[in-house]
Order: sequence, then C-alpha cells, then structure tokens
Amino acid sequence: MKIPKRESRCSQHGEFFLPEQEVISLLKKEEEEWKRQDFCVACWEKEPRKGIYFRAKIPAPQKKQISPDSKALTLFQQLIETKENPKFLSLLTLYLVWKKQLIKRANSLYEVAETEELFEVSHPYISPEEGKILATQLTEQLDGNTR
Ligand SMILES: [Zn+2]
Repeated sequence: MKIPKRESRCSQHGEFFLPEQEVISLLKKEEEEWKRQDFCVACWEKEPRKGIYFRAKIPAPQKKQISPDSKALTLFQQLIETKENPKFLSLLTLYLVWKKQLIKRANSLYEVAETEELFEVSHPYISPEEGKILATQLTEQLDGNTR
C-alpha cells in the first residue's frame, strides 16, 4: 500500500524543511488510507503525538550515495500496485533493504531510498520450503534468465 510522501514543510508551523534537517513523520491509518504529517523537531517536542512515527533527515540535494537497483525497484512497485504474490513481495522487500534501496521506517513501512516514497508491506508467514522456491524465483527475475 502506498503512503503519501513527506511534506515540504512542517505540518505545525508551516516552515519549509531544509537539507540535513531532522524531521519526524507521523502516520495514521484511517479507513484503509494512510494519512501523513511531518514535523520539525521543535514542534514535535512541544507536542509529541501518539501513533506510528519515525525520524529522518532531509537529504542534502547533491548527495546520492547508492545508484538505484531499478529492476528490483520496478518489480517492487509493480507488486505493490497489483497486490499479487504477497510472499514474493515480502522477500523482495527484505532483499531491497539488504541492498540499501529500501529503508525500514517502522513496523511495516518502507521508504524507497532514492525517491523517499513510502510503502506498506506485510510479511506473511513463509515456510522454509516456500522460502527456497521464492529465493530462486527472485534470483531468476533479477538476473533476467541470462544463464
Ligand atoms: Zn515546526
């Protein structure tokens, strides 16, 4: 499930966020839809909210540490949209976290490092046998069957 991106300004006092600034993002699920608010540290500490939240830094504009694994990310976004194969999506998500393409922000919330898009991914139970099959499928998909 897709979650709104970070606002460019503080939800409380309306000031624009600056590069390298620390920001707290608060997420609430209302009737199958995620609502998002972003706060500067001062506003948050004056009035902390309850709910799912995480701290992050606004990236410096010219700093791009990791080149995107576009094939895996495209696949990830496709599976989010189609809601097909949640077990495969779960494994792909872990792979992308390992590759530092996704950042785990809270329980089931993952952010695309490159674009800061936020998604909800559930992790259904996967048996060891299923895991092996899914891992093979993942390798095949990402290698493009060139063997
Ligand atoms: Zn503020």
